[in-house]
Amino acid sequence: MSNVAGFPHGSEGDDPSDVLAIDSLLSPEELAVRERVRDFTNQRIRPDIAGWYEDAVFPLDLAPELGELGVLGMHLEGYGCPGRSAVEYGLAAMELEAGDSGVRTFVSVQGSLAMTAIHKWGSEEQKQEWLPRMAAGELIGAFALTEPTAGSDPASMTTFARPDGTGSNAGWILDGAKRWIGLASVADVLVVWAMTDDGVRGFLVPAGTAGVTATPIGQKLSMRASIQCDITFDAVRLGPEALLPAARGLRGPFSCLNEARYGIAWGAMGAARDSYEAALAYAQERLQFGKPLAGYQLTQEKLVNMLLEIQKGTLLALHLGRLKDAGTLRPEQISLGKLNNVREALTVAREARSILGGNGITLDHSPLRHAANLESVRTYEGTDEVHTLILGQHITGLPAFR
Ligand SMILES: Cc1cc2nc3c(=O)[nH]c(=O)nc-3n(C[C@H](O)[C@H](O)[C@H](O)COP(=O)(O)OP(=O)(O)OC[C@H]3O[C@@H](n4cnc5c(N)ncnc54)[C@H](O)[C@@H]3O)c2cc1C
Repeated sequence: MSNVAGFPHGSEGDDPSDVLAIDSLLSPEELAVRERVRDFTNQRIRPDIAGWYEDAVFPLDLAPELGELGVLGMHLEGYGCPGRSAVEYGLAAMELEAGDSGVRTFVSVQGSLAMTAIHKWGSEEQKQEWLPRMAAGELIGAFALTEPTAGSDPASMTTFARPDGTGSNAGWILDGAKRWIGLASVADVLVVWAMTDDGVRGFLVPAGTAGVTATPIGQKLSMRASIQCDITFDAVRLGPEALLPAARGLRGPFSCLNEARYGIAWGAMGAARDSYEAALAYAQERLQFGKPLAGYQLTQEKLVNMLLEIQKGTLLALHLGRLKDAGTLRPEQISLGKLNNVREALTVAREARSILGGNGITLDHSPLRHAANLESVRTYEGTDEVHTLILGQHITGLPAFR
């Protein structure tokens, strides 16, 4: 772990906060990836994040830099993608989210959602056209599933694509609306999931297509250093080449969501760790009643409780990563990791804020920013309740969604 200023504690094994020696479970290559992304976070995110958050901006010039760092479509093979392991991708997500959930969200939307949809379900032409430049951060993608009236229940979506003409040259006409779509107003391509006469299908809608309007959602109290939009589709005409040929039904978007949820299980622990480190450093320096806050039993209990959850959650994320790299990771395991780690990260961030006292409510310190962001993280990619229902069905055999 690094301290609050982001400087790594000495060599492996020197960090008193790594009680379980989790670092010893990582290979030299994995540690190197982590160091590289940690350096990036220290240099490019930490110095400016308070300003971006206050001004509610996501600096788009980060995109090519993240491409160069090799974290866009990090786990995908071919088409200019980095082809790294699931554990390496997880470690990168953790380091980026230690900076801010908004930056990790950018990487998730671009890589785990938009690029994964094209990589998994696209035609050879679609992959060649989009993936190399998306991996480089030259082009930005969005993933449009949620609608104003269809969130946790995407099967109730009303955005509809009907055939435009007949025969093999027939295209599509798209009507409807999406909400909360990350990056939509700046995206070069939208991956849009729509109902058809043949069930849910995916479409690639390039920026500038007539009839598409994307409007950023303002006045957010969470995830301020990132962009989410309302989108409307008004008789949008698409050619036959817009269809993602291999995606049929909700399996198409769900398989991408699983990739993103996996990254979140890691990322949330980054936000938690950064909050803990901020509180620990503050408690060691802040004197009240004649001694450092860290010297009081009540403060130590808070710090220890935070550390327990961070160490357990990080081990859990690593276990999921090893399973994913072995090709055996199951959806309910991802649900367990996402539900637990985001829930515990939120508790850690709030508790960390309490140690910072009044100073903790300013953007000079990270914990309350992390806590506000984690409210979004617990909501997107399946809410706490949705993952509880997935696990409830898994252990009882009884679906309780309806
Ligand atoms: C910052 C941010 C970024 C996002 N980015 C994207 C994106 O890029 N692309 C995209 O498609 N979407 C995105 N989303 C949307 C996100 O996936 C949805 O917000 C989420 O799926 C929840 O849907 P909803 O907000 O409509 O809430 P609802 O589904 O209306 O749920 C409201 C509450 O009811 C609960 N609930 C729902 N059903 C049940 C049930 N059966 N039993 C018990 N409780 C239930 C929920 O758990 C929740 O607590 C984003 C959201 C946010 C906040």
